[in-house]
Amino acid sequence: MSKPSIQLNEHLNMSDRTFILFSIGANLGDRKGTIEKAILLLAKDGLIAISKISSIYETEPVGHSQQPWFLNLVVSGYTNMGLAECLKFVKSIEKLLGRQERERWTEREIDIDILFFGDHIFKSDDLTVPHSRLQDRRFVLVPAVEISPDYVHPIFKKTLKLLLDECNDNSVVKKASII
Ligand code: ADP
Ligand code: MG
Repeated sequence: MSKPSIQLNEHLNMSDRTFILFSIGANLGDRKGTIEKAILLLAKDGLIAISKISSIYETEPVGHSQQPWFLNLVVSGYTNMGLAECLKFVKSIEKLLGRQERERWTEREIDIDILFFGDHIFKSDDLTVPHSRLQDRRFVLVPAVEISPDYVHPIFKKTLKLLLDECNDNSVVKKASII
């Protein structure tokens, strides 16, 4: 499928910028359109310089299986934002795109997760980085390995490629054809 065209924000201060990897998914409504809008909104205000966007994947729901299949992809970039600001920013985008409050791990119009925020290791009630379940989810690891195979998980000290090789999740993750 064609990817949205993104303006790279070259003006970001290079010295204290942080590498960031997001996982984006949707299984309700216009899934592809909403994911494209999410990427455009991440790039829009110059707060994040997007560098790579993975292919889009059709993925079998994990956990609550009685729900529609997802579209998922992974986006990498750089930011000068702090971590808390970044979480606030992605939550505001989810809200703007009509995400309704529902039980965790059920269907959603849009889900934006912060997988990595540089090498930061952080845990609070509403934020854990690296994302606590990324190593258990093929729908995250497959697109992440497509764009950042050699990125090293700061806790496990393993590349994303190795985490995918070792992942026990057998759920279906396939490249989306024409949507
Ligand atoms: P999940 O994405 O794990 O399926 P939800 O999107 O329903 O679950 O969970 C939302 C909550 O997860 C958010 O309110 C947010 O505060 C919290 N959260 C914890 N760690 C992260 C992270 N790394 N990225 C995004 N949200 C996170
Ligand atoms: Mg989420």
